[in-house]
Amino acid sequence: METIYYDLRDTKGQQKEIEDKISAAAKILREGGLVGIPTETVYGLGANGLDSAAVQRIFAVKGRPQDNPLILHVTGAQWLPRYCADIPPMAYILARKFWPGPLTMILKRQPLVPDATTAGLNTVGVRCPNHPVTLAIIREAGVPIAAPSANTSGRPSCTTAQDVLEDMGGRIDSLVDGGPCILGVESTVLDLTCTPPRLLRPGGLPLEDMERLIGHIDVDKAALGTIEAHERPAAPGMKYRHYAPKAPVTVITGAPGASAREIGKRVGPTSGVICFDEYAHLFPKQVVRPLGPSEDKQIQAQRLFEALRSFDHSGVTEIYAQCPDNRGLGFAIGNRLKKAAGFHVLEADNQRVILGLTGGTGAGKSSALRALQAMGGTVIDCDQVYHEILQANAEFQNAINAKFPGVFNANGQLNRRKLGQEVFAKRDRLDELNEIVFRYLVPELERQVEAADGLYALDAINLFESGLDRLCDRTVAVTAPTELRVRRIMARDDIPEQYARLRVFAQKGDDFYRSKCDCELNNASESPDVFYREARLFFERLMESILEEKRKNAVG
Ligand code: AMP
Ligand code: MG
Repeated sequence: METIYYDLRDTKGQQKEIEDKISAAAKILREGGLVGIPTETVYGLGANGLDSAAVQRIFAVKGRPQDNPLILHVTGAQWLPRYCADIPPMAYILARKFWPGPLTMILKRQPLVPDATTAGLNTVGVRCPNHPVTLAIIREAGVPIAAPSANTSGRPSCTTAQDVLEDMGGRIDSLVDGGPCILGVESTVLDLTCTPPRLLRPGGLPLEDMERLIGHIDVDKAALGTIEAHERPAAPGMKYRHYAPKAPVTVITGAPGASAREIGKRVGPTSGVICFDEYAHLFPKQVVRPLGPSEDKQIQAQRLFEALRSFDHSGVTEIYAQCPDNRGLGFAIGNRLKKAAGFHVLEADNQRVILGLTGGTGAGKSSALRALQAMGGTVIDCDQVYHEILQANAEFQNAINAKFPGVFNANGQLNRRKLGQEVFAKRDRLDELNEIVFRYLVPELERQVEAADGLYALDAINLFESGLDRLCDRTVAVTAPTELRVRRIMARDDIPEQYARLRVFAQKGDDFYRSKCDCELNNASESPDVFYREARLFFERLMESILEEKRKNAVG
């Protein structure tokens, strides 16, 4: 069979020619043929979704297991009632916000939709793709297009028309080239036949975006990629190796620095490496496919399948892949990588150490933090993070405003002084404020340290009241004799002794910090230089013992 190629990469040119190509592709579909179609996620292998015989050809050509249902592609939510029954209002809410786009909704099917399309299920997956060419083809064909990804079953998905030709050339009637796919990973699959809705497959639409609109979504075990070899998968197809290059893949999770180090320990001369751009130089002897900057998941998603496919022409005998964290598009990227690896996933040796530093004013916390920074450590100023997220988060501002009316001025700036006066010396008001602040601050700090590697210090006055101590490997009390503290504050802030004394006594004493913390760094020295050296030595020893402990735990 000859595969007719329609070049529709440029849709701004000759309108007549473009319309002719779209009509021709639509005609092939109406007549029961197979057409490779461009979408924003990956290339699809399309057939008339209402034509059993045509749909069965998709399974034959792809070598797709019969129990793996196809997605119906439509031009908008107005098509839903034709193919779906008992449609909940939430489906329309989601469609209004996210269609056209990478969201597939699972709904009850109408009898009109053949078993071949749904793999015999009484539900059907429906999606409106965000690609002008394919939308025009569906509109012209007047039928929904059933389409799985256009790759041979088990291989990585296709993100260019060339990939489709490689897998499907000569086996399908036509291929429409709409340029490279903008997103690069398949759609998110959300089951709306249950309450709450259930995520079956992470994809191009992040889970967080949907939850912001409709509230909590359950995540199916299959979507998490935590299925063990002996467990029965919840979704069809999960038991097979997917998206896989010929060479076996090992995924290394963890902070980027840590996973790069781990791959460095394992690679040999015939290894292939998928890594973030920043770490490519660590593998000069290997075949490297840079996935994009570690912070840019959009680029990572775009390059993922091309990277996996390209190894098949390279002769590598094994592949190691770095993996982004699970937030945003990272959930889908990590899921595809883990499936490509047949769930062969290793957690990188965690070399991250988080210390929580606390202590009264004048004790020497700032000097200690400087010593820690000089060792290459990173200091997170929790008060600063608090004000940054407050700036950016209206919900957070509203929560404070509700309890402390009038502390924000007209242009939304927090009047810190006014708020300070409200809570100063009023224990229950302070507790109320802390409760709100920590509700927003703790998750943000968790997020920051989760991606961390190396030595970190949380600089927080309310380390324990906030629960931030739970993020720490060790908490450190920086203490100093009271008389020394008074003199330091006088010199530092240029204030009379009586004020300095008041300040020191207004705070919790060293005994409080000592009793709460895991260890104590006492600053009894008259010389800042001496203390700086003492602090450095203290942190070096502490870090060594924490890492040693982690190594033991990892083995045992
Ligand atoms: P593919 O296009 O190759 O990614 O395959 C489509 C995927 O959509 C299937 O593997 C399922 O994960 C999902 N899907 C389609 N229809 C249904 C359905 N009725 N119930 C559950 N999942 C579905
Ligand atoms: Mg697929």
